[in-house]
Amino acid sequence: MLRQAESDVFGAVRFKRLPEPSRPLLGVVRQVALRTSHGCAAYRLEFFLWIFGNASVSGITIALSKGRIFDETLPLLRAAGIVPEGDPESSRKLVIATNRADVRLVIVRASDTPTYVQYGAADLGIAGRDVLIEHGGMGLYQPLDLGIARCRMVVAVPKGFDYAGAVKRGARLRVATKYLDTARLHFAAKGVHVDLIKLYGSMELAPLSGLADVIVDLVSTGGTLKANNLEAVEEIMPVSARLIVNQAALKLKRAEIAPLIEAFRKAAK
Ligand code: ADP
Ligand code: MG
Repeated sequence: MLRQAESDVFGAVRFKRLPEPSRPLLGVVRQVALRTSHGCAAYRLEFFLWIFGNASVSGITIALSKGRIFDETLPLLRAAGIVPEGDPESSRKLVIATNRADVRLVIVRASDTPTYVQYGAADLGIAGRDVLIEHGGMGLYQPLDLGIARCRMVVAVPKGFDYAGAVKRGARLRVATKYLDTARLHFAAKGVHVDLIKLYGSMELAPLSGLADVIVDLVSTGGTLKANNLEAVEEIMPVSARLIVNQAALKLKRAEIAPLIEAFRKAAK
């Protein structure tokens, strides 16, 4: 049964969702609606057929990223009655079945989570506030701050760099970061002129190698900053992971999704 559910993922289950205008049955209903005086009733029937067609797409897909978010999400999933099959941490599988035949996990890159949920490839997901701000949040409900994967978005500089003085002088700062929107908004609000340099990894190296004056990055313990002779000089915002839900999925699969949100809400307390 579970094997079946697993192999069905993205096969039978996902592709059952037909593009509505091309469904022959709906075409007939639409023709009837246009040609008879029962247009209104026929349209209502069409609507119900459409809802039924979508509601019959059963199963819930949850997008998660490995690492921090995954580790801290497992206890929440368990509290919601969901246990992944096998050892997801060591497995190379990207689609993971669970003890519930109607729930599966997809493993995505942290910054891709909102995109999977936005387009409905996953119904639910768990993503850091940092990632959600950069994504923009289109098409997403964010019903819960789960309080996991906590860290801070900060401005960090090499020890001894006079950040306050540079800001006061109106100096133009070179800022290296993975979080362009967050950094742009932060410095714009302060009235600081910046050149933003987009990086994908190890921001700490940028000031050490002369690529940038300051970095905008996430820190939790501060250990990496310290090891590289950097210090946080400004907190931009606290960050934690949120539950995100596809807006259309919440409407069409409310009966399945609402209890999950409630279970997460209780477990997150
Ligand atoms: P990736 O390296 O693919 O971005 P991570 O597992 O490092 O994935 O981070 C995933 C999420 O964990 C981040 O988006 C952030 O919300 C959260 N996080 C918590 N603490 C930290 C930290 N010290 N550094 C980076 N991310 C952190
Ligand atoms: Mg990382």
